[in-house]
Amino acid sequence: MSPSTRIILKEDEIPRRWYNIQPDLPHPLQPPLDAETGRPIGPEDLAPIFPMNLIEQEVSQERWVDIPEPVLGKLALWRPTPLHRARALEEALGTPARIYYKNEGVSPPGSHKPNTAIAQAYYNKEFGIKRLTTETGAGQWGSALAMACCLFGLECKVYMVRISFDQKPFRKYMMAAWGAECVASPSEDTQAGRDILARKPDTPGSLGIAISEAIEDAVTSEATRYSLGSVLNHVLMHQTVIGLECKKQLEQVGDYPDVLIGCAGGGSNFAGLAFPYVLDKINGRQLDVVATEPTACPTLTRGPFVYDFGDVAMTTPLLPMHSLGHDFVPPPIHAGGLRYHGMAPLVSRLVMDGLVEARAYHQLECYEAAVLFARTEGFIPAPETAHAIAAVVQEARRAEQEGREKVILMNWSGHGLMDLSAYDAYFSGKLADYPLPEEDLRKSLAGIEGLPRPAAE
Ligand SMILES: *Cc1c(COP(=O)(O)O)cnc(C)c1O
Repeated sequence: MSPSTRIILKEDEIPRRWYNIQPDLPHPLQPPLDAETGRPIGPEDLAPIFPMNLIEQEVSQERWVDIPEPVLGKLALWRPTPLHRARALEEALGTPARIYYKNEGVSPPGSHKPNTAIAQAYYNKEFGIKRLTTETGAGQWGSALAMACCLFGLECKVYMVRISFDQKPFRKYMMAAWGAECVASPSEDTQAGRDILARKPDTPGSLGIAISEAIEDAVTSEATRYSLGSVLNHVLMHQTVIGLECKKQLEQVGDYPDVLIGCAGGGSNFAGLAFPYVLDKINGRQLDVVATEPTACPTLTRGPFVYDFGDVAMTTPLLPMHSLGHDFVPPPIHAGGLRYHGMAPLVSRLVMDGLVEARAYHQLECYEAAVLFARTEGFIPAPETAHAIAAVVQEARRAEQEGREKVILMNWSGHGLMDLSAYDAYFSGKLADYPLPEEDLRKSLAGIEGLPRPAAE
């Protein structure tokens, strides 16, 4: 057997610095805007929501940012993560391509999300914050932040979208195991929640509503701040340990990717893998960088580049991003992490600049690819991750048709062991494809007419 089935680094090879792509962008990011005044918001406007040390990271123009020792100490609980060569999958596909996947599913909560949860908990603690609030959909982010707060001795309150709270209880139990408080959103604990419950007592909730609740709680409580698991610049930067490790691992086997693939919900795991390589691409290296998403929530492939709110209640600043409109209600697909109406401004910008390509996949094709993956490589992927695997399968087949030995690198963002009910639904034929009807898109985009437009250049 060839030695390069699982490429592992030693503990002291965890990257010591994060990569911040901001100074390398061909076009700088446009600033977030205050929705009332239309003016760029400054650091002090965000101070009630985030601690100043993270706000500084959000706007930092330093290319490399040192990772504090206590953060490295906690990341070392599961990092560096293995890079696998997917030999059995290659064989099943009969492809000349070499397929590699970075296994972020080995973290305690089972995804890439604790890479930033750990960093955010640390910086909040350093700033004197005692308690963090957040929202969660299916519970991946809530469980990651619950663990991080627990490891740094912070309190944690998670507003979990009601339908998931009721239907997917296991991540709620994980949050309890790590000592966090988790309530169904909308809740009676905030004004935003009470208002919605008064109007629609049996609402299933949404990520946008939960964000509004978590922010309200943070700005109205002592020594409490809010934490976001994706989208923001500092979150994407914290995830770059993924791509930086991959570079060392692929160097060990003398490979460099021709195609990079990651699924994109808010954009963080994709960015974590891709940004260190996008730097090479900016410097002239040839490679395809592909972000994948569901056809049911096609933010990058069909949403325009606009200024929009991050939440339904329109409480966040306006961010320059691809968006389906903040009123967008996604169809009930099981990839909960890919149902967000917006996209990270950094990822949106790179798509506008042609450095990143976006592709959308139908739900059933993704499950088919996920099952093939499980039956060859063994690991059962999260439904979100399945959207990256669908693209890997497509690229591997293309390589076979072209007779090309290309190197494909995928971010395996998380395992699906808490999502087995979705697999059950797939196996019993209860899942369908939900391509977003043009009419629905038009309706949700009507909600952002009149907002300022960011320049395309
Ligand atoms: C949350 C999640 C995603 C999507 O979020 P990003 O910020 O786009 O990475 C993808 N995969 C898994 C396993 C997740 O938990």
